[in-house]
This record gives sequence, C-alpha cells and structure tokens, in this order.
Amino acid sequence: MLLTLPDEVRQLLRLVQHHVFMIYRDEEECYFLFSEGMIAEQYNIPTRFVRNRTLTEIFTKHTYSVLYPNIVKAFNGISTQFEMMYRERTMLVSLEPIIRGKKIEEIMGSAFDITVQKEAQKELSAALDKERQLNALKSQFVYTVSHEFRTPLTGISMSAELLQHYMGRMDEYTKRKTLESILNRTNELTNLIEDLLTQSSAQSLSTMFNPEIIHPVMACQTIINDIAETFDPLSHVIEFSYEESLPVVHWDIRLMRHIIRNILTNAMKYSPTGTTILIRLYYVQGVIYVSIQDRGVGIADKDLPHIFTPFFRSNRTETVKGTGLGLSIVKEFVELHGGTIHAESQENQGTTFILAFPEL
Ligand code: ADP
Repeated sequence: MLLTLPDEVRQLLRLVQHHVFMIYRDEEECYFLFSEGMIAEQYNIPTRFVRNRTLTEIFTKHTYSVLYPNIVKAFNGISTQFEMMYRERTMLVSLEPIIRGKKIEEIMGSAFDITVQKEAQKELSAALDKERQLNALKSQFVYTVSHEFRTPLTGISMSAELLQHYMGRMDEYTKRKTLESILNRTNELTNLIEDLLTQSSAQSLSTMFNPEIIHPVMACQTIINDIAETFDPLSHVIEFSYEESLPVVHWDIRLMRHIIRNILTNAMKYSPTGTTILIRLYYVQGVIYVSIQDRGVGIADKDLPHIFTPFFRSNRTETVKGTGLGLSIVKEFVELHGGTIHAESQENQGTTFILAFPEL
C-alpha cells in the first residue's frame, strides 16, 4: 500500500512543524510506506527517497537503536511516545499501531520538533539551579554573619553586665580589663563589618577594573610595604624574593593590593606567630608567577577544592575569625587580570597560593 498526501495537508504539516509517517513490517524488516512533513521539507528529503526503504537504510545506527525498541512495542499493540535526536534536533515521536482484525502490519507515527521547548526547558532549569545556589549562599551568609557576630556580642554584653552590677566593688585593674574586653570585642565587630563591606564592594571594584603597565617587583614591593605598615608589630617574618629580569605586567594596582593583602592576611591568620611567609615573583615561559607560601596549619585535601567558594570555611580553622569570602573575591580579581590561582597544601606543613598572569 502506498500513500500520497494531498498538497494542502503537506503544507499544513510544514506549518505546524509536524512530520507523519507510516511503517510496515514483513518477516524481516521494517519499511517506510510514506514519510511526509516537516523533516522532509526541512532537510529536503523527497518522499520518494524514503518510500519503501528499510529503516536501517534511512537512520544512523544510533538513531535506529533508539527507535527500534519503540517500533517493536508499537507492533506489539502498545502506543508509545518518546524523545529522539534527529540531525541535532530533538523530536517528540509518537507511534500508534494500526490494528486490522487481529493483525498489526503497520504503525502510524508522528514527529514533532521540540528543540526550542527543550532549550527553553534547559535555560529554565539552569535559572532554577542558579536560584537554588543563591538561596544556599544566602543561608550560608546569614549563618556566617549571625555566628560570627554572636560571639563578640555575647562577650560585650557579659562585660557590660559585670560593670553594671559590680562596678562599685571592682578594683581599678578589673574595671580597666573589663572595659578593654568590650573595646576589643567592638574592634572585632568593626573588622567583621569592614570585611563584609569590602566583599560587597568587590563587585563595584571589579567594574572599575583599570589595569596599567607596571613592573611587578615594584608593585609587589609597594603592596607588601603598605601591608607590613598596617600590622604593628608584624607578627610574622615576610620575605620577598624575585627574579631580576622580569617582564612588565598589566595589573590594576588596587585590585592586586586587595589580592595580596587577602592571601597574606590568611597566611598570617593560619600560621604560628614568628614563622616566615615567603612571597616569590618568577617567570616561566610567558607566565609571571606570584607565590605566597606559609608554614601554617595547611588545608586538608578534601577542603582544597572548596576554598574559593563563597562562605566556605574549613573546620580546621573554625577557631580563627573569618567570613569565608576573601578567597572567592581574590579569585574573581585574579581572573579579571586574565590570570589563574590555585593552592597547594599539606596539613600542618603549610600552604602555597600560586597566581599566574600571562605576559603582555
Ligand atoms: P576566611 O579566611 O575569612 O575564612 P577565605 O575565603 O579567605 O575566608 O578562606 C577560606 C578558607 O580557606 C579559610 O576559612 C581557611 O579554612 C582556608 N584557608 C585560606 N587560606 C589558608 C591558609 N593560608 N592556610 C590554611 N587555611 C587557609
């Protein structure tokens, strides 16, 4: 039996992006009786090309392997609907057995191009994923902030209560100590707030990315001196070494200051007082490297992949104050320079952060 569709129907199929076909089966093979509509039109496959040819001739092995089990199902009397790729388009295919008496010799099928819907679905689920991630970040943020703020606040409130109730009975020394404790805790809170503000202004900093051509040794030396001045007395030994003939770099000095200050402050926070932090500047095959090495607590292997994730804090360093935001911003800033950052670490041996910047 051969079928030909009227022109009007063909036009209609093209219009609604539909394809219809009929398959019959003899003892050995499945053949197309006809196959008309959107696919034939789009890919310029004349109906006579498909008619009476076996499915294995028409389809690639992969497409056929998806189609075949469904065809078997339909010939067993079960209607099916499934998705299938055809020439990089996603098709929703339906197969319907045609029952004549008790025999099924043909099945009818239709294919509908759902590529656009699929893509929209993908975009939607990506947007949902992002939304979920943002929500998780928000919870982490609330947790971190409340956790970090609660400790100093509790301290302040306890000291203030002591003063309120026992001021009359306190000697001068205890009064001064209690007041000092309040002041220290207040400073802690101020630092925390400053930290959070720096992180939230990081985005605006990055929109003003303004690199200039500078010499890396000079830039690093200035940054290190600035940082060292703000820590008085300096709790660690900072050593700076560099190769003599380094090429110039394209750095935004403000962002580089933020980057180095953050890594250096971490190195100080997470390594014993008095130990040495080594900053090295070197060049290998078109790449300028800055490495910052400490001899501190180190980072566990399981934590290393997460340290650049916002709010991540290792449980090894829970006793030290922090927000878990610093390194995520550092990474963003390094990448703005076209650079990369990674860390190498061994527990209780120390950590090295390695920044790599392409040569101009
Ligand atoms: P913060 O220091 O405020 O917690 P960061 O984003 O700067 O946040 O660092 C994330 C985490 O990575 C830290 O909490 C700490 O666990 C770990 N880390 C970063 N630098 C070091 C380091 N030099 N030595 C050991 N652990 C580090």
